[in-house]
Amino acid sequence: MISERSKFITDATLGKLAKWLRLLGYNTIVYPKEAGREMLRLAQAEKRIVLTRRADMAQRQFSGSLHLLTQIDTAAQLREVIDKCSLNIVKEKMFAICLICNKTLNPVARDQARHMVPDYVAQNCQVFNQCPSCRKVYWEGTHQRNSLQFLQKHGIIEN
Ligand SMILES: [Zn+2]
Repeated sequence: MISERSKFITDATLGKLAKWLRLLGYNTIVYPKEAGREMLRLAQAEKRIVLTRRADMAQRQFSGSLHLLTQIDTAAQLREVIDKCSLNIVKEKMFAICLICNKTLNPVARDQARHMVPDYVAQNCQVFNQCPSCRKVYWEGTHQRNSLQFLQKHGIIEN
C-alpha cells in the first residue's frame, strides 16, 4: 500500500496549529463553522484526519481518524499531532504550501519574482515560490529561519 501523506481538518479554535501543519507541508483546512456532523462528513469525503479540542466530537460516531488534542500551547499541540499521527517531518517538504490558503506553492523565476518582493529580498534571495490563489510570494528569509528555530527549540526538527 502506498502511504499517502496525511491531510488534516481542524476545528475553528486550532487556526494557529493549522498554519504550522501547512508550514511543515501538510494539507490542512480549518473548519470555519461549529464543529459537528458536517465537519466529520467533510473529513470523511476528503480523507482528512480530524483534530479537535472538543471532547464531545470524540464521542461521535466516525469511522475515520480523529484525535482529541489536550494541549493548549501551539507548539505542544504540534508535538501532540506529530506523536499521535506518527508524522515524519522532513525539511524537504516544508515551506511548500501557502500558510493562508493551504494551496501548493509554485516556483517563480528570480527575474519574475524580483518585481514582486522588496529590493533587499530580490538582491539576496535565490528561490521564490508563489501561491496560485492569493499570489503571495514566499522566499527563504527571516520568517523561514525563525520558523526553523522555533521547531528546533521545541524538538520538532533536529538542528
Ligand atoms: Zn495563498
